[in-house]
Amino acid sequence: MRAILYRWKIPLQLIVIAVLVSFVSVVIWRLFIVKNKMIAEEYQLLASISSDEIIGYQKNKPDSWKDYIAVITACKNTSAAIREDLRKKLLSQLDNHTQFKNLKWNGADKNTQKTASQIRTLLNQYTIYDPGKYGFPLKQTCYYVDTYGADREGGARFHQGTDLFEKKGTPIYNVCPGTIEKLGWNRLGGERVGVRGDDGNYYYYAHLDKINPELIIGKKIKTGELIGQMGNTGDAISTSDHLHFGIELPNGQWLNPYPFLKVWDSHAKGGGG
Ligand SMILES: [Zn+2]
Repeated sequence: MRAILYRWKIPLQLIVIAVLVSFVSVVIWRLFIVKNKMIAEEYQLLASISSDEIIGYQKNKPDSWKDYIAVITACKNTSAAIREDLRKKLLSQLDNHTQFKNLKWNGADKNTQKTASQIRTLLNQYTIYDPGKYGFPLKQTCYYVDTYGADREGGARFHQGTDLFEKKGTPIYNVCPGTIEKLGWNRLGGERVGVRGDDGNYYYYAHLDKINPELIIGKKIKTGELIGQMGNTGDAISTSDHLHFGIELPNGQWLNPYPFLKVWDSHAKGGGG
């Protein structure tokens, strides 16, 4: 009996270790997926805020724009009967320098207050709208509209970014600190650069005429460093020169970059404190 036990001792230990290791890996993997899904939902919520309102409040209330944005965004979802009245009461409290946590929410349903607190927390947690944190990819004014979700290749896929139009050769700059992850040719993007931001998102610059030859995969890159020159390579070959700019979240979902570009553009033009 003892001999049999001895013979099986090592294999049994190995099995127990293998089971434990796989269990722990599954738990870690699940947590990772859940976390990335949550991050994606939070960015979607941020992208749904009106960029014009952010720009306006950053200009007029540079110290408390996050409070104003949280309040007015949350009020939009409250019942029509009390919306205007509630909004007025809350804004007048903010105008009188009441701190966000001390606001009186009389008449508001719990959800409105909860949404406002959530938005307020996210605006602190993610710095993507903060003046001075992210740069606009061009140094000059250019034409761009919100075409996220537009049909491409007859419904085979949809537009997952923003196109910024200027003339061929216009310099394109990096929008946030990160590491060069992808460089060179792909079928749709043509000459493209992919930067893994320190914030975890993937920033995609496509259809470049030329990539900055000094870029190397794995190398750190700062905000405002040269990415390359605008062109129409890849599937943009039959269109005007433009930069296709995309933001891919850690869960693989492409975020609509338009509202963020609008706000960064306003900062580049001297808005937002
Ligand atoms: Zn595009």
